[in-house]
Amino acid sequence: MAANMPETQRSLTYLTEALDQALAAGLLMRTAAGQLGHAPFTLYPSPYPGELFKQAYSLADDFNRLFSALVRQTDFLQRISQDTAAADPFTRKLLQTHERSSLAGPGQALSLGLFRSDYLLHEQAGGTQLRQVEINAIASAFGAMGGRVSQLHRLLAERHHPERLPRLPDNPAETGLLDAMAEACRRVGGDTVLFVIQPGERNVFDQRYLEFGLWQRHRIRTLRRSLQEIAEQASVQPSNGSLRLAGQDIALVYFRAGYTPDDYPQDIQWQARELLERSSAVKCPSLAWQLCGTKKMQQTLALPGVLEQILPDDAERIARLRGCFAGLWPLSDQQAAEAALEAPDAYVLKPQREGGGNNLYGEQLKSALQNMPAEEQAGWILMERIRPPSSRNILLREGKEPLEIEVVSELGVFAACLSDDIIPLESKPLGHLLRTKPVSVDEGGVAAGAAVLDSPMLV
Ligand code: ADP
Ligand code: MG
Repeated sequence: MAANMPETQRSLTYLTEALDQALAAGLLMRTAAGQLGHAPFTLYPSPYPGELFKQAYSLADDFNRLFSALVRQTDFLQRISQDTAAADPFTRKLLQTHERSSLAGPGQALSLGLFRSDYLLHEQAGGTQLRQVEINAIASAFGAMGGRVSQLHRLLAERHHPERLPRLPDNPAETGLLDAMAEACRRVGGDTVLFVIQPGERNVFDQRYLEFGLWQRHRIRTLRRSLQEIAEQASVQPSNGSLRLAGQDIALVYFRAGYTPDDYPQDIQWQARELLERSSAVKCPSLAWQLCGTKKMQQTLALPGVLEQILPDDAERIARLRGCFAGLWPLSDQQAAEAALEAPDAYVLKPQREGGGNNLYGEQLKSALQNMPAEEQAGWILMERIRPPSSRNILLREGKEPLEIEVVSELGVFAACLSDDIIPLESKPLGHLLRTKPVSVDEGGVAAGAAVLDSPMLV
C-alpha cells in the first residue's frame, strides 16, 4: 500500500478489500430472506490482553477435567437436573429422555464434547480479570467461521499493517474440531457422521466447512438431517445397537440442533433424540453432557464446596476454575434476590435456555423477580453483571452501512474432550472465537444479530 496515498482513500481500499476478502475466504451466511451474504464481522481485530487470552486457553483443560468428572457423578447430576426439571418443562424432557435411554442400557460409553467456554473481561479496582459467561456443551457454533475471520484479519494486516502480525494469534479451531470428530470415529471404527441440524439454518457454512473438511482431511462422510427426518428415516439395529440411516452405519452424531424447545415442536423430535441416544453411535454431546452444560449446573458448581466434591484433592485446579467464575446465585437465595431488586443493573437473570435472546436485564429483571411464581424459580439463575472494557471498531453487516461504534468483546475458547466412563482420554484447546457487539447491546448472539465475528489482537 502506497504510504503517500490519502488517508480516506487508504481506508476505502482497506474496507473494499475486507468485504471482498470476506466473500473470497468463505465468511458466508444466509440472510433472513434466504439470500447469501457475508457473515457480520469487524473491520479490525479488537485489542485483547495477551495474558488473559493465555489464561482462557489454559482453562480449557480444567473445564474438560471438571466436566468429565461431573458427568460420572450420576447421582449429583440427576439430583441437580431433577430440581431444575421440576421448574422447567424443557429440562424435564431432556432428563426423562436421558433416563429412559440409560435404562435401556449404555448405548455408547464413549462421548465427545466439543465445548466452547465464553468469557468477558471484567474491569474492577484490582485490574482486569477473566470471567466466564457460560460454557456451551451442545452445538458450539462458529469454529470454522471464527478461524476464517482470523485469517481475514491476518491477510489485511499483511497487506496494510504488517507490524501487527506478531500480535494476531493462530486460530486452528476448524482443524481442531475436525480432528476431534475424526478421532471419535476412529475409536468406534466408523466413517460416517450425522449432523443433526435445524431446518432453515442460516449459519449453514459454519457447518458445511466441517462437513467438507471431514471429507477432505479424513475421508469421513457426512449426512445432514433434522430431528424429524431422523425419526422418519433412522433405525437402531436390535442386534448391536448400531444406528442406520440412508444405508450407512453412523459412527458419530454431531448435534447442531436440539438445544432449544423450538427444536422439538412435536413428540416425534423427542423420539428421534431418544433413538440417537440409545444407539451405539458416539454422541456429541450425550444427553448427560448436555445436562452438565446448563446454566443451573454452572450456578450449582459455583456454590461453596461443590467443586471440591467433584474434583477431590485437586485444589490447584479448583482455584483456577473458581478464579474465572462470576457471582452466581439461585433465586432461592433471599439475600441475592434482594440485592438484585435494589440494583438490577448489577445483575443478569437467566433462564435454562441456550441460543441467545433469553436473559433479562434492568427493569425486566426486576419485574420478573417480583412476579415469578415460586415453582418457576429453580428454572432461573441470577448472575453478577460483568462489566467489560470497551474499545472502538467498525462493524460490517450485509446490506448495511459500516458502523463505527464503541464495542465490547466476548472470547470463546473451543475445546475437545473425548471421554469414556472413566477418564478423559483426550483433552485440549482447539482455537477461539471473538464476538464483538456495541456497548449498548445486552445480548450476545451472532446468529441473533447482536454480535459480529471478530479476532483478537493481543496487547
Ligand atoms: P446464551 O445461552 O443465550 O448464549 P449467555 O449466558 O451466553 O446465554 O448470554 C447471552 C449473552 O448475554 C452473552 O453473550 C453476553 O453478551 C450477555 N451476558 C450473559 N451473561 C452476562 C453477564 N453476567 N454479564 C454481562 N453480560 C452477560
Ligand atoms: Mg452464550
